Amino acid sequence: MDVSSSRDPVKLTEELISYDTVSHLPNEGFCARLEELLEPLGAAIQRCGSPDPKRPGQVNLLARFGPDRDGGMALAGHTDTVPYAAEMRSTVVPERDGRRLYGRGACDMKGGIAAMLNACQRFDMSRLRKPLWLAFTFQEEIGCHGVKLLERVAPLRVEHCIIGEPTGLRPAVQHKGYAAGVFRLRGSPAHSSDPRQGASAIHGAARVIDALYGLAEEWQGRGDPACGLEPPWTTLNIGKVEGGSARNVVAEHASFVLEVRPLPGQDAAALFAEVERRAVAALPELRGVVVKFEPHETDEALATSEGAPLVQWLVERTASQTISVPFYTEGPTFSRMGAVACICGPGEIAQAHREDEWVEMDALEAASDLYADAIEAFCT
Ligand SMILES: [Zn+2]
Repeated sequence: MDVSSSRDPVKLTEELISYDTVSHLPNEGFCARLEELLEPLGAAIQRCGSPDPKRPGQVNLLARFGPDRDGGMALAGHTDTVPYAAEMRSTVVPERDGRRLYGRGACDMKGGIAAMLNACQRFDMSRLRKPLWLAFTFQEEIGCHGVKLLERVAPLRVEHCIIGEPTGLRPAVQHKGYAAGVFRLRGSPAHSSDPRQGASAIHGAARVIDALYGLAEEWQGRGDPACGLEPPWTTLNIGKVEGGSARNVVAEHASFVLEVRPLPGQDAAALFAEVERRAVAALPELRGVVVKFEPHETDEALATSEGAPLVQWLVERTASQTISVPFYTEGPTFSRMGAVACICGPGEIAQAHREDEWVEMDALEAASDLYADAIEAFCT
């Protein structure tokens, strides 16, 4: 690859798209390339690889410019993409069409990463008086595994953090949380010719599921129309049900997965306690069926203060009001590490995760300008 071509945010995005980084594939080759681009600019590089044997070749790449101390700003993004179908128009071979650039990750979010790199390439790093970090993570799309590893083993201590997810370069300060778990029901098997001899776990699951959808309706009634989120209440979904062994056997086992999307300020554990109580209450008249709930994830919502200096600066610089986004991000994890986290990146979420993912080339250039100005504002 021609090195000079890598100093243009559009060409840089094209180059990054050419690395296949669907979440389950190793991202270390991609990170090695980012490192090659960052090192000549004077970055101190740190890799934080996953120790999990189920995640081979997965690394977070951290690059620091400026002084080695707390504070300053991070520009952050995830290196992985969602999968693509074989017949997709442009996947890892990007295509230009007018002022649009097509390819997997163009919008979510190799375009944002390219704009961050380009902003660094254009900046005179000898002027930094506070640290500037680039934090590029693995496996965001399948559970934010990379950033959660960072939080555990190498937490960033920055004051401000911009995450370059697609928001049309509007500052996003809010999104719902994400909580998920699995319900397992156990009954006792019998020949279906006389169901009285057993207890059907599937019948139990049906009762519990119905009760939980009743709870979902109550949550809808308890929503907050002014919260700015869509829909403005806590949602619940049961996305997968399994159970039983044969048509003529009373089912011994059944299970289903549940997800809940909490509003800002809600405690996911408290919501799960409510879910569990409702499930248990749905069963007493069904003798012989027991239910167990295993929570898997409880990630809180993003609720960044409108008054934070980073948010105010972004509102003024982008001439856009703050928005809420309908998708989960790494923002809450960066907030837990102590940063004011704001989501602001090129492209629109409606252009992402689809078979013809694209990004406006002008948006990539505008994002590079925005990030360079943010470095000036928060790190010099
Ligand atoms: Zn994303």
